[in-house]
Amino acid sequence: MWLKRDLRNRDHAPLFEAAQRGPVLPLYIYEPSLWSAPDAAPRHWNFVAESLQDLRRRLPVAIRVGEVLPVLEEIRRTQGIAGLWAHEETTNWLAYQRDRAVRRWTREMGIPFVELPGTGVVRRLRSRNGWAGAWEKLMGLQPAPAVEGLSAIPGFALGDLPRAEAALQQGGEAAAWNTLESFLHQRGRNYAKELSSPLTAFESCSRLSSHLAWGTISMRETIQATRRRMEEAPEWKRSLRAFDARLHWRSHFMQKMEDEPQVEFRNFVTAFDGMREPHWNDDYFAAWCEGRTGYGMVDACMRALRATGWINFRMRAMLVSFASYHLWLHWPKPAAFLAQQFTDYEPGIHYSQFQMQSGTTGINTLRIYSPDKQAEDHDPDGEFVRRWVPEGVGPRIVEHGVAYKLARERMAAFRRQPEMKLQAKAVQVKHGSRKKPPPRSRQQTLF
Ligand SMILES: Cc1cc2nc3c(=O)[nH]c(=O)nc-3n(C[C@H](O)[C@H](O)[C@H](O)COP(=O)(O)OP(=O)(O)OC[C@H]3O[C@@H](n4cnc5c(N)ncnc54)[C@H](O)[C@@H]3O)c2cc1C
Repeated sequence: MWLKRDLRNRDHAPLFEAAQRGPVLPLYIYEPSLWSAPDAAPRHWNFVAESLQDLRRRLPVAIRVGEVLPVLEEIRRTQGIAGLWAHEETTNWLAYQRDRAVRRWTREMGIPFVELPGTGVVRRLRSRNGWAGAWEKLMGLQPAPAVEGLSAIPGFALGDLPRAEAALQQGGEAAAWNTLESFLHQRGRNYAKELSSPLTAFESCSRLSSHLAWGTISMRETIQATRRRMEEAPEWKRSLRAFDARLHWRSHFMQKMEDEPQVEFRNFVTAFDGMREPHWNDDYFAAWCEGRTGYGMVDACMRALRATGWINFRMRAMLVSFASYHLWLHWPKPAAFLAQQFTDYEPGIHYSQFQMQSGTTGINTLRIYSPDKQAEDHDPDGEFVRRWVPEGVGPRIVEHGVAYKLARERMAAFRRQPEMKLQAKAVQVKHGSRKKPPPRSRQQTLF
């Protein structure tokens, strides 16, 4: 049983199914190639290591350091493998290629490899029509019972975890459930009102993203617990509905990467290729990364994110909008940088959102945030900015009005290209939501 981004015992269908059939070896492989990639960071590993430590209290999880094929080959030679079980995974290009190699190897070795769905993403999807129904069906299934009393394989050393430090957000299944419970019973009451301001969001958002990203809790159990709570506490309905919708978006965004893994490095609409690339500016990029652009809200959010591993959705969107429009930076490098800062890095959401906030999907309303307006709306007394930029804000590296006007002109010139309409239509057919368009005020979050 190959553990990847599913570090839990509850509602773990492959583990449960494998355990019905005979002795099981739950195995986590620390893959140096993945952990040294430009989107990986020690803060991810710290969270994963805590989650594995927690899981090891309930399951004899073996840990190996190495690339997957040699590790599996060694186990096959020394122990024999009757079958390989895993969750279907939707993640970055490297892991996608590694999964393909593992599939090939299991075929050559005559080892059955069973991958089961877990995140609400539908593999080999033919059309987006009917996707929402398929998602509801997956989320409504009975959760798989937790596996108890699994014994270690005699003579097979469990191995040590590579070195880790304390995670910025506590990892593990127990922490995931505490986070969900405190959200559904205390913190989430005003979620719908308080999710956009960084003054309130740290407390009022669910903070489940890292747990969902590394699989210490399942989407299915999260959705089902939320819907039970909706029945129980009608006065929370507005907030819980908003939360439920976002869980749906989670899979909706990941489905885009499942259907087109190249979105990690290629524009959704390739007619935008070349729009920003020639304008790359190292000094702007460094100022953005270090939180010294001279825009208080941008700098405070970047510094808060770097220190805590998290920032709320609206402020992520503003950070990206600033990099992509005000600084006119092509998105892949900024995307890898933010991937390293988010403990909850989830490639399927991350790259789709990044491109959406950078205007390269072709099918979303252009949304260029004014950092001053965001400060006015979400930090009117300047409390958040003072907390994270205590020395006071420095000179601005670009002027909003000028940068805004230039960005709009540049976008408009590219959008006028004849192939744009056709390409955007193809993106809508392949990836677009089938729901009727949301009101303008919410258009930044769906496409
Ligand atoms: C540029 C950019 C990059 C992002 N990268 C990531 C990422 O790498 N990993 C990640 O989990 N989220 C990402 N998000 C989406 C969103 O910002 C985070 O999911 C959210 O802030 C996590 O905090 P939370 O768990 O408290 O969210 P809540 O508001 O409590 O939402 C609950 C869950 O719903 C899902 N969700 C919420 N908002 C969105 C959204 N807009 N799109 C898709 N799913 C959503 C997440 O799984 C989240 O945990 C990104 C957003 C932007 C604008």
